[in-house]
Amino acid sequence: MSEKVKVALYWCASCGGCEEAVVDLGEDLIRLSNMIDIVFWPVAVDFKRSDVEEMPDGSIDISFINGGIRLTEHEEMVKLLRRKSKLVVAFGSCAQTGGVPGLANLLSRDEILRYIYVEAPTVVNFEGSMPKEEVAVTSRHKIELPRLLKYVKALDQVIDVDYYIPGCAPTPEVVRRSLEILLGGKLPPKGSVLGASNKSLCDECDLNKTKPEKILLKDVKRVHEVKLDLSKCYLAQGVICLGPVTRGGCGTLCIKGGMPCTGCSGPLDNVKDFGARAISYLASILDYEDEVQARKVIEEYIVDPVGWLYRYSLPKSLVRGKYQGLESDKHE
Ligand code: SF4
Ligand code: SF4
Repeated sequence: MSEKVKVALYWCASCGGCEEAVVDLGEDLIRLSNMIDIVFWPVAVDFKRSDVEEMPDGSIDISFINGGIRLTEHEEMVKLLRRKSKLVVAFGSCAQTGGVPGLANLLSRDEILRYIYVEAPTVVNFEGSMPKEEVAVTSRHKIELPRLLKYVKALDQVIDVDYYIPGCAPTPEVVRRSLEILLGGKLPPKGSVLGASNKSLCDECDLNKTKPEKILLKDVKRVHEVKLDLSKCYLAQGVICLGPVTRGGCGTLCIKGGMPCTGCSGPLDNVKDFGARAISYLASILDYEDEVQARKVIEEYIVDPVGWLYRYSLPKSLVRGKYQGLESDKHE
């Protein structure tokens, strides 16, 4: 009998980057294939839902689930995988905190559908046709499609999650370290974030030595408005970098590529709301005389504050989204 660890991988509402992150393991995949049996990975191998349904409960050792929960199909599949798995790991920022698709929570389901199918400038839909959940193909056959949920949810807003792997997408190094922990047999406490550090990104940034002890900014610039000196801390140059409030572990990939950190590895342990933490940090470094001046600069340079500060975490934030919290929404 196989002693290999039985692993399932599944994607919900995501861009596919987390699947790429697995492939990015490269030659390590060969080494891994000696240790694990992939029992479900619909994006790569032709498994069906019925294959999972037939497995005994608890028979999958680890399920890695990426993407936010957007469709009824996602909800059904993750509940099924939860039942069949000993451990469930939220893989990547969409599963961990809702991710970029979670920004859709700024709109209601009806507004999203209307825009995409009727109002978008590139759409021609004179009859105002909208997608249906059920369509009769013949008098005896019908097609059923999954329903769009009212909101995007993070994985742990639907099922119990054992561990989290951060990043959009998690870097190969973060994935490698996480697998070593999971396959090593000595598991950390439930709820731990794997493969990353619990220190801020600044802590591992090569530019940290050029970051002044105290930063006070009079002028804030967007990254395309300056010629960044790549040898100096971006924040000290007036470009907002979220490194001070972001979990380290990615190896400062964006910064090495000439872009400030946008916070995809999420907050450090015990920070409940990434955006609120970032706002609090920014408030401590913006040096303005009065509210009028501060407001002017914020309006001019921070054109999309929610998209910027909650880019990866709106569904798990305290505000959660524009339309959330209505009594009638609770069932969805
Ligand atoms: S603020 Fe950004 S650029 Fe500056 S040290 Fe921190 S991570 Fe590096
Ligand atoms: S630098 Fe920031 S945004 Fe870029 S990969 Fe690292 S944590 Fe994510």
